Amino acid sequence: MKFAVGGMQHETNTFAPTRADLDAFVKGGGWPTIQYGDSLFQAVEGANLPVAGAITCLLAGGHKVVPLAWAAASPSAQVTREAFETIVGSLLERLRDAMPVDGVYLDLHGAMVCEHVDDGEGEILARVRKLVGAGVPVVASLDLHANVTRRMIQCADAVTIYRTYPHVDMAATGARAAQRLLDIARGRGLASKAFHVFDYLTPLPSQCTFAEPAKRIYELLKQIEREHRVWLDFAPGFPMADFAECQMTAVCYGAGEQQAREALSVLVKAVEEAEPDFALTLWTPADAVAHAARRGEPGAPVVLADTQDNPGAGGNGDTTGLLAAMIEARAPDAVLGLLIDPAGAAQAHRLGEGAAGDYRLGATSGVAGQEPVTGRFVVERLGDGHFTCTGPMFKGFRMNLGPMALLREQRSGVRVVLASVKCQAADQEMFRHVGIDPVRQRIVAVKSSVHFRAHFQPIAREILVVRAPGPALADPADFPWRNLRPGLRLRPLGPAFMPPATRDLATPGTGPDQAAPLNIKPPRTTPPDPVPYG
Ligand SMILES: [Zn+2]
Repeated sequence: MKFAVGGMQHETNTFAPTRADLDAFVKGGGWPTIQYGDSLFQAVEGANLPVAGAITCLLAGGHKVVPLAWAAASPSAQVTREAFETIVGSLLERLRDAMPVDGVYLDLHGAMVCEHVDDGEGEILARVRKLVGAGVPVVASLDLHANVTRRMIQCADAVTIYRTYPHVDMAATGARAAQRLLDIARGRGLASKAFHVFDYLTPLPSQCTFAEPAKRIYELLKQIEREHRVWLDFAPGFPMADFAECQMTAVCYGAGEQQAREALSVLVKAVEEAEPDFALTLWTPADAVAHAARRGEPGAPVVLADTQDNPGAGGNGDTTGLLAAMIEARAPDAVLGLLIDPAGAAQAHRLGEGAAGDYRLGATSGVAGQEPVTGRFVVERLGDGHFTCTGPMFKGFRMNLGPMALLREQRSGVRVVLASVKCQAADQEMFRHVGIDPVRQRIVAVKSSVHFRAHFQPIAREILVVRAPGPALADPADFPWRNLRPGLRLRPLGPAFMPPATRDLATPGTGPDQAAPLNIKPPRTTPPDPVPYG
């Protein structure tokens, strides 16, 4: 059989400072660069990427694979109309040329918001469906942070979603999607759909599948799949996209409607009951640094997650709150990475290794209240930013982070790893590239929410999630939401969203924080009926 394969991945934080233009997808920002046609095979070969897993699965079955277009960019604010239309336009044109095909596989994220379309993936799936017609199977893989919409479910024969965070199963999810595509193409698919939308949002750091409650939810999910003979998926979602379908969802495919609904309701009940367990503990920068200085030692560092400036959630990796706290405390054997500062890295490369200079580091993207860290730093090591990741999640990713540098602040001895291209610090090679072995430190601060855990948890004595300035707010209730579904709880057991107009009417003269207690809604004790779909 002949299958068309393509994709576009973007995770959109509508509150972030910078949009994703075509150049962001051309360069990839830590992901492989944009690919058209056959070059895709080589660009993703061996990488932990959904499209790589799908291609491997389809080729292993002896099928013909036609690569269309594939692109990804670092999470940020909205995707520009030009980027979306250029990439999707090319994907559709190549699909038209490839037809007839026996099926289409799409590697999508599921939380892409564009300048002109709120539901980017729903729009892609609708256009693909319109082109190939109702009879050709279309299957997409999605990120665990997908805000799955009704339109996506309606337009795809099936979606399947990562089951790990850190996402160590991206390639495996692509392979599972390809398997479902093959099953459907052979007439052995599960055609009845049931879809459920949950009533609360969860903070990113508490979605980690190494920890409860996500760990037991995904174990249950696999058990339900086996026992009920269904395809079942769960997306905790991405709680930073201000549109009506920013939400946590679950979807189930069965041989019949009743079967799909029953299996889904078992998972729904477990997720509803887990609401209190999704609550999050956050540290202030000063408390976290003091605790880490006491507890960390070379061989067993304490890792600090600077979650609110996570470039993997729309931050630019340039805020200085945690770095300033480390310098202020003169934290011993402490390093922060990656601080994205092309000018600082260029200055270090001009000065050369061993040279001291006065720097103004970070705070380049205008996050409110942020100041650069100023002081005298010594250039300890330079790097060209080219290296290959080795951790469980990014294994095989060939990085190109531009000029990099390791600087040491002269008074405190605190070190900082600078990079020129925005990327989440989720692989130890990002530190080793400039001569830092993370395990030899007492304190390792990473601009990441959860993905770093795949490579850093095994060496960490403790991990603390720190609330330092940045646009990727750890507590979803902190965002100035305007467009969510009314009644959605903004955090586990938290205040429910009311549209701004209603809110102002209900509590004149007060901001959302003051108004919130009026709107608290207790969690459900019995799960609602899942919404059948399709
Ligand atoms: Zn994700």
